[in-house]
Amino acid sequence: MRQVYEARHSHWPAVGWLPRLGLVTDGFATRAIHAGQQFDPTTGAIIPPVYLTSTFVQDGIGNLRNGYEYGRGGNPTRDALQTQLAALEGGARAFSFASGLAAEDAVLRATLRPGDHVVLGADAYGGTNRLITSVYGAWGVRLTTVELGDADAVRAALSTESTRLLWIESPSNPLMKISDIPQLARLAHEAGALAVIDNTFASPALQQPIALGADVVVHSTTKYLGGHSDLIGGAVVIAPGRGELEQSIGFQQFAVGAVSAPFDAFLTIRGIKTLELRMRQHSANAQTVAEALEEHPKVERVYYPGLASHPGHELAARQMSGFGGMLSVALAGGEASARRFSESTRIFQLAESLGGVESLVGYPSVMSHASLRGTPLAVPENVVRLSVGIESAEDLVADLLAALERL
Ligand SMILES: *Cc1c(COP(=O)(O)O)cnc(C)c1O
Repeated sequence: MRQVYEARHSHWPAVGWLPRLGLVTDGFATRAIHAGQQFDPTTGAIIPPVYLTSTFVQDGIGNLRNGYEYGRGGNPTRDALQTQLAALEGGARAFSFASGLAAEDAVLRATLRPGDHVVLGADAYGGTNRLITSVYGAWGVRLTTVELGDADAVRAALSTESTRLLWIESPSNPLMKISDIPQLARLAHEAGALAVIDNTFASPALQQPIALGADVVVHSTTKYLGGHSDLIGGAVVIAPGRGELEQSIGFQQFAVGAVSAPFDAFLTIRGIKTLELRMRQHSANAQTVAEALEEHPKVERVYYPGLASHPGHELAARQMSGFGGMLSVALAGGEASARRFSESTRIFQLAESLGGVESLVGYPSVMSHASLRGTPLAVPENVVRLSVGIESAEDLVADLLAALERL
């Protein structure tokens, strides 16, 4: 087991580490617990130490121990996380960043030049739209948003010669639209573009975009991968066979420096070990909540791919192994009801973010998606988003029904 998972220290610019022998055949939970996690050889400590260090002593000028020189370029704790992430997504290599947006920024920086064009799903995370429009726009990058369920519209948007990226989110945020990842990856490749998937909502426990044809996977590890609302982090995972992209993302991580800190990397590693179990419970609880809310007279609509009434239900059942913990609810009483509901739950706490063990409620049009207010992409004002945690399902349902009663 140990040899199988032994990760050679692998920071940029070292190349060719890929010790994936065996990883692909082991089950997901085995990879989550063991990939990159060999015990400490000096003491036998089963949990490798957290390397809280900025620099590494050299045995002579340029004579480095296992290639380690300076913490921005490489740190053993970050490397352990990167090995674990690559194994989970079936990638050739993964890179860990200080936030999800820092990870996205590295992908954009590594692949775009002034004049280039990006196609983004209309219902994507608001911060991704803001990053491309407000930061990259100033450097001459152009953005088209498109309904990812409309293949003709996607093909048309991709037909610009300078299109480099098709940026996909499925399930999307906050309306949980499901996109056909294999079809979209094919359309991107036909247009000479890379298919990038933000896999934050599903997590690799429920969806494997690289196996479905994606070239790059990005994550906000702040969410399900960390899983305990105690860190900010991001990741980029590169599909096999894209060595040049690995090199350029690695260079961005080293030269720009938005790396994850060792302690955050450690917390992420620890969270990932229970990812499969947590996702199973998040999915079960969300299904229970969605079914309870769907029948309620004060609810206009529930957006959850696990419901047979969801337009993406069949597709989600095909390309995911569970429907996840996120759902949105449109309230019959409009904006006022949505606001009051968001402020009156007891267990669901009003906060940004998602993916932790505790349940959260958010009001997207003013919170997570405030940057889209007043645009055609604005989230309807009667929509509330729930991140369903892994508390006792009956308590969660009772909390939500009580809040509906108070409307
Ligand atoms: C939170 C989130 C991000 C941004 O990640 P940060 O860690 O907050 O920088 C990107 N995509 C999705 C889908 C998210 O939920």
